[in-house]
Amino acid sequence: MFPHMVRAGVYARISSDREGDGLAIGRQLEDCEELAERRGWRVVDRYVDQDVSAYSGRLRPEYRRLLGDIESRALDAVVVWHVDRLHRQPKELEEFLDACDEAGLAELASVAGTVDLATHDGRFTARILGAVAKKESDDKSRRIRRKHEEIALAGRVSGGGTRPFGFESDRRSLRPDEAAIVRECARRLLAGQALRAICIDLNERGVATVTGAQWTSQTLRRMLASPRIAGQREHKGEIVAQAEWPAIITAAESERIRALLSDPSRRTNRAARRYLLARLLRCGLCGSTLVARPRSDGTRRYVCASGPGLPGCGKITIVADSLEQFVVEAVLYRLDTPELAAIFAGRQDDPAAEQWQGEVERAQAHLDELARAYADEQIGLQEWLTARSPIEQRLQAARKRLAQLNRTAALDEYIGNAAGLRERWQALPLSGQAAIVAAVLDHLIVNPGTRGLNRLDPARLTPVWRV
Ligand SMILES: [Zn+2]
Repeated sequence: MFPHMVRAGVYARISSDREGDGLAIGRQLEDCEELAERRGWRVVDRYVDQDVSAYSGRLRPEYRRLLGDIESRALDAVVVWHVDRLHRQPKELEEFLDACDEAGLAELASVAGTVDLATHDGRFTARILGAVAKKESDDKSRRIRRKHEEIALAGRVSGGGTRPFGFESDRRSLRPDEAAIVRECARRLLAGQALRAICIDLNERGVATVTGAQWTSQTLRRMLASPRIAGQREHKGEIVAQAEWPAIITAAESERIRALLSDPSRRTNRAARRYLLARLLRCGLCGSTLVARPRSDGTRRYVCASGPGLPGCGKITIVADSLEQFVVEAVLYRLDTPELAAIFAGRQDDPAAEQWQGEVERAQAHLDELARAYADEQIGLQEWLTARSPIEQRLQAARKRLAQLNRTAALDEYIGNAAGLRERWQALPLSGQAAIVAAVLDHLIVNPGTRGLNRLDPARLTPVWRV
């Protein structure tokens, strides 16, 4: 008997054709058909809705036709560019899942990653995607971002405005005199000099910025923190490509400068940004714990930190806001399952939990202090590594105890009541939010991103749940 050929339907949608989106539709279809081919599926039909927003609730004729074909079992699989092309309302998703169930269709592939509708986890992912998509901004701004990202991914220059310091106005060729200044400033900053002191010196020497103005701490900070001077193309807080222009300083120097400049103890002009998922994220390539590291413009990110003395591979970066939003949604969904209620039913309180929590915080503060001392070159690499190890052991031991004792306390009143928690979420202190997340999520593995996707791509994420 011949193996059954999987019959796939490709669905594409765009909400407006004003900005050359005919092309984008073509691109969605092309990507989807390539994907189907890779999987050995035969594309038997294409469904394209134009100029209709899934938000508006208006009828999407091709989507209805797709549903009909699923119901009549004309399809074994559906391919979409991104799952949010398919539906942007939970109600629609449930309807879609029902139709798939009924017809036994279990393959939903997207360019971003495949959702296996036959499994609980797959459906779980699809539901969270739906919930997150609902909150997202409209398609239009996303398409514009996508365009910028295409440019960024190619490592090409973009934008007008004033030329970057160190480069000619073509934004590619070096200006040797300015490049020498960049190198000098980088060296002096890494040697521990303050931004202000360097500025004063530059201004006294008559070295001007590209606009002819005097240097300020802000302009110098922005220049030194920019991956551009290390020959790297940055886009939305992530280094996305090796740039087409030459580097003035090395990537390692650049990374170290950013670590130094983003150190919260250096910043007095803004409240410390907090990170909900600190220490819960693991690099999918090397297994290191990701660290919170904002971009110079303040965009919050988690990165796999590499460089002298750092354990990571430096290849993973993820923007914090959308990731945190996704994880919170996932946790809230998780809390609403009856399984959880059953697990927590037998829980006992333990006063020791508080003590271990204190131990964790002390050890963490100690580690942070050490890292700062190293970044400021108060201590050397060897000293840092030596001092770190016993503290990390202490930290790990305390965490383990906490995991056993404390993890359910934060959850007690919310099991099966995610709606109540959702309402109060914003009002909870970060430590409270973090305790709830950590009670449910052991850790989250962050894999490399898919080229061409500039938004959070859940296919990158592998959650390891505690419960
Ligand atoms: Zn890594």
